Amino acid sequence: MGVCCRNFLTLNFKGNKLKIRAFLSSILIAFSLSGFAYSPLYHNACDFYFLNYQKSPDVLPTLNVDKTIKHIESFKTIYRNEMRVKIIGGAEGEPIYRIDLPSPNPEAPKILITGGVHGNEPFGVTTSLEVLERLVYNRELREQYNFVILPMLNPAGLKASSRRTLTGVDLNRSFLPGKEVQATKILMRELQGEAFVMGLDLHGARTKTGYFVIKANKNDGGLAQKALAKIPEDLLITSPTGEYPYGIPSTLNKGKIAYVLSSPGETVSNNVGTVKDFFFSKLKIPRAYTIEYPGQIEVYQRQEEFIKLVEGFLYPSHQ
Ligand SMILES: [Zn+2]
Repeated sequence: MGVCCRNFLTLNFKGNKLKIRAFLSSILIAFSLSGFAYSPLYHNACDFYFLNYQKSPDVLPTLNVDKTIKHIESFKTIYRNEMRVKIIGGAEGEPIYRIDLPSPNPEAPKILITGGVHGNEPFGVTTSLEVLERLVYNRELREQYNFVILPMLNPAGLKASSRRTLTGVDLNRSFLPGKEVQATKILMRELQGEAFVMGLDLHGARTKTGYFVIKANKNDGGLAQKALAKIPEDLLITSPTGEYPYGIPSTLNKGKIAYVLSSPGETVSNNVGTVKDFFFSKLKIPRAYTIEYPGQIEVYQRQEEFIKLVEGFLYPSHQ
């Protein structure tokens, strides 16, 4: 673009510095407005990533998948000295990306963050990318860890705002022998043999009014609690009686208990075939978590608190 613009300027505005300056400013403003110069430090992720977002919690925002892909592709230029971006395979006509943010310390352990396995939970995608872009500027954390981000595990489902894949498969139950589909195989092939100290799979719970975390390992040294303390307790799922353990009723199977809260926002479960189960059982990641945002709060706040919660897991001072 640089060469092209320079030629254009030479031809049209030669000798007229003021006009050139005005022309350059208008280009900059246009790029800023179009999102080209998007930076998580200056913009809100909701405005940037969603197609139909409204502040009302009743409207499910749809991820603009094509724009998100363009944004990820732009990392190759914007962060060319910081990140490695690659497509690890394609599922249902859409690419699955892996982004590495290597530490200057090659011995540093690795943290894995995945998002968008359920296509109707788009804040997992936006949050993994927001956290990634903020990490670029975080020297302290980058000294400590290598980060691996797979922001969109189910891009076709995200495009359709569908929990499942286009063929009706719940990817988050497909990490089992005989149940694997294309995306499952791509992930297993890509990550097998890599060692991670922590794995965070970002989800969302549309019908819930609070954030919560599902731990694979009961004994996580209190890390989940410390991360949950990063957001106000009235934004967590809590026991209505104030007593724990408390069984959260399932919204899908009436009369059943979905999860048992051991403290505000904290549950333990190891549903087989989930991404978290794959992290914990197959990749042997000792700290594997599913992190859930609530569907029933205002979207800006939903986004910001989700970022804070995920970042709460990353700070080594908490571990
Ligand atoms: Zn989910």
